[in-house]
Amino acid sequence: MAPEAAARPTRAELRLAAREQSRAQRRGAARAATRTALLRVALPSVAALGVAAAAAVTVQGDADRHAQAAGRVPPRSAGAPEDAAAGAAARQTAAVDGQAQASRGDARQPLAGAQPADAPTGQPTAEPAPAPVRPAVVMPVAQHGLGELFGAAGTHWAKRHTGIDFPVDGGSQVMAVADGTIRTQWNPFYGYMSILKMPDGTEAWYCHLRGYKIRKGPVKQGDVIAFVGSSGNSTGPHLHFEIRPADGSGPVDPLPWFLSNGLDPR
Ligand SMILES: [Zn+2]
Repeated sequence: MAPEAAARPTRAELRLAAREQSRAQRRGAARAATRTALLRVALPSVAALGVAAAAAVTVQGDADRHAQAAGRVPPRSAGAPEDAAAGAAARQTAAVDGQAQASRGDARQPLAGAQPADAPTGQPTAEPAPAPVRPAVVMPVAQHGLGELFGAAGTHWAKRHTGIDFPVDGGSQVMAVADGTIRTQWNPFYGYMSILKMPDGTEAWYCHLRGYKIRKGPVKQGDVIAFVGSSGNSTGPHLHFEIRPADGSGPVDPLPWFLSNGLDPR
């Protein structure tokens, strides 16, 4: 005989098992009914027993709920040893809860202590990030990306690089980075150049141009003013861009100027 066949229950065994199961279910229902009946009987008498008895019942109920929540079987009888065990379990649960609360309190403590140290370095990161601000300036060419940076040393510059280079094709459009007034001029070093004077007196110099679209007068931010070339002291088409503050102190690094105006040209 095969082992599987030996393990398979007969029809008679199955019927027996089914009967056992339904009997067990009936027993369970009967127990539940008994418990309900006991509760119905017990509840009216609670009023007579007074507040202390009511409190005791409540505590017992809480202990049961704790035990059930913890997956333990609640005590069925009112016997003293089991009551003591339930009480101990409840106390243990309360102690564990207390420890959890204490450790949560401990965890908060260092954070609270760290607050004053954070304060001088600026507001904590919990504050909402500021809404994106519309850049005060726009790109002088359509394409992001920089070539030579400000201050770079090079053989074809008298001293150091006085602007930043945008490596774009000859003929690319050049735009006014802000509202202002345009003037144009020729310089043997810068070639054809457009100078945009902004309302605060800051000048933006566009150099090595191929030609102009606007030779003179007021322009609006984003207007096409000229075209990229390689005029003057230049080895190939690109836009050389300078920022010169109103105080006449000379060229400053255009990159932080762009960044401070909310635009990253890189
Ligand atoms: Zn340059």
